Amino acid sequence: MALTTDFANVDPGTETAEKKTDYSRYRIVPARHPGRTAGTIFAALVLALILYSTFTNPRWGWNVFAEWFFAEPVLVGLGRTLLLTALAAVSGSILGTALALARVSKSPLLASLSWGYIWLLRSIPMIVLLLVLNNLGYLYETITIGVPFTDKVLFDYPTTQLLTPFAAAFLGLTLNQSAFFAEIVRGGILSVDQGQLEAAAALGLPRRRQAFRIVLPQAMRSILPTGFNEIIGLAKSTSMVYVLALPELFYTVQVIYRRNLEVIPLLMVATVWYLVIMTVLSIVQHYIERYFSRGAVRNPTPLPFQAYFQRFRRPLSAPSASVNGLTLGGSRGTADWRAKGGAVRIHGISKSFGALKVLDNIELSLPAGSVTAVIGPSGSGKSTLLRAINHLERVDGGFISVDGDLVGYTQKGDVLYELKEKDILKRRTDIGMVFQNFNLFPHLTVLENLIEAPIQVRGLSRDEAVAFARELLARVGLSDKIDAYPRQLSGGQQQRVAIARALALRPKVLLFDEPTSALDPELVGEVLDVIKELARTGTTLVIVTHEIGFAREVADTVVFMEGGHIIETGSPAQVFSDARHPRTRAFLAKVL
Ligand code: ADP
Ligand code: MG
Repeated sequence: MALTTDFANVDPGTETAEKKTDYSRYRIVPARHPGRTAGTIFAALVLALILYSTFTNPRWGWNVFAEWFFAEPVLVGLGRTLLLTALAAVSGSILGTALALARVSKSPLLASLSWGYIWLLRSIPMIVLLLVLNNLGYLYETITIGVPFTDKVLFDYPTTQLLTPFAAAFLGLTLNQSAFFAEIVRGGILSVDQGQLEAAAALGLPRRRQAFRIVLPQAMRSILPTGFNEIIGLAKSTSMVYVLALPELFYTVQVIYRRNLEVIPLLMVATVWYLVIMTVLSIVQHYIERYFSRGAVRNPTPLPFQAYFQRFRRPLSAPSASVNGLTLGGSRGTADWRAKGGAVRIHGISKSFGALKVLDNIELSLPAGSVTAVIGPSGSGKSTLLRAINHLERVDGGFISVDGDLVGYTQKGDVLYELKEKDILKRRTDIGMVFQNFNLFPHLTVLENLIEAPIQVRGLSRDEAVAFARELLARVGLSDKIDAYPRQLSGGQQQRVAIARALALRPKVLLFDEPTSALDPELVGEVLDVIKELARTGTTLVIVTHEIGFAREVADTVVFMEGGHIIETGSPAQVFSDARHPRTRAFLAKVL
């Protein structure tokens, strides 16, 4: 108080300063941009010149143009062009996507076959391909389908009758389109973050579902601009099929101007129609791109029809669910959302990356329902251990079992059979994983993230999955975020959704890999609170963390790792206050 009075007293300019801060009587003069103005005038002049010359030069023949623009043969040709474009775009895209998936597949033969196809088809000029297809009847007189090495014939037809000019054009455009489109799709697939695949695999989603629900929709963001470029190119290259004497738009126009010699006006007829097609395609592209950008930006502009439907849609979030009620341990709710914890036994596992031994003969036993904190310096193998437990990482030696079932193998007598990926994915649902970087699916809403795996993998009905998802979201205090996209949430909220997503599968074991390391300090608490509530509710927890205070409070057992070895295990009190091993003491001295 005294300070402000003094301050006012010593400042003699208070009154004038007040007058100066009253800006209401000032007038604003926008900045002048002489260069920009000159550019605008120049552009207007060029435009005027072009328009003047096109409409005053009689040789453009706009009256002939008008006469032919909607003429029947032109419209029939246009129809053929559109049909060819649409058919080749659809079949080329489907074939291209299949080729791209083949190229990134794990089968070397399939990948090479796809590579060879793309190499060949990208090398052959379009016009050559079209002519070869049109002359296929010369190479093979009939097309026959029969049972190999027998005389049985199921189908036999002369090639020339089967491969009409239209069929040849369709086939040529499709083959050519698919080769280029395959590389575009592959580029899109490569652009999707690896963490997305790991999250999908950790939820046990089948491979097909991973590809079509998680990877491709996200890849679409980078596929669409180049993909549409390709389709627009395709619409133009349909003009090339005139070499097959197929009366599409361009060929029709040629036939007409050879008769009436009005070359330019008829070429303009074709040009303007192509312009119309490209404009429509560009508009379609704009809307499709906007659709696939959902979740990619924090403030998406809704599509016109979306805004319309949103007004009529009943809000999804149940208003009754309390927001801050972190009552994971409580008995609220009807569904039995708690799983029985699994007992994890790790028998002498080892893992090397090249010459580097990352896990060296690890032995560990985690009773059902226990909470284990794994600590240790960076690079000591903590993440690799967690990833080995749910078989995201294959170990070189040793075994891991959950409730007696070996992870990754089935046992018949003394023989262990390695499981196929399909079966590994199914079993993985017993072991949930929460990642450092959350790895939520950004193109799906919070609700969709939560119900995807329960429906796909556990076979729940949508209603059951939604009811359970609501319950879980209430428990992590995020009921009001059910329709938000992950990028619209804070880091702490995203991690709480990620925990709810892992719980949605009712796992026996839940693995946390530094769940708070990517968070700002003030957001760490809200995530740790959720994990604290989870502890001792049944599920077995394994938590890699640097939060020593949290580990001390929550864990039954603390495991200290260094250089791929377990150096020390014990109760938090024992390890944190009275570590036996000097290395443990040295590490704790640094982090405490
Ligand atoms: P932590 O989680 O304890 O920091 P990690 O388990 O991630 O350690 O890694 C342990 C060691 O293994 C590190 O030295 C790391 O560089 C190495 N490593 C992990 N994954 C791979 C891999 N896929 N290829 C090669 N080296 C790897
Ligand atoms: Mg790690």
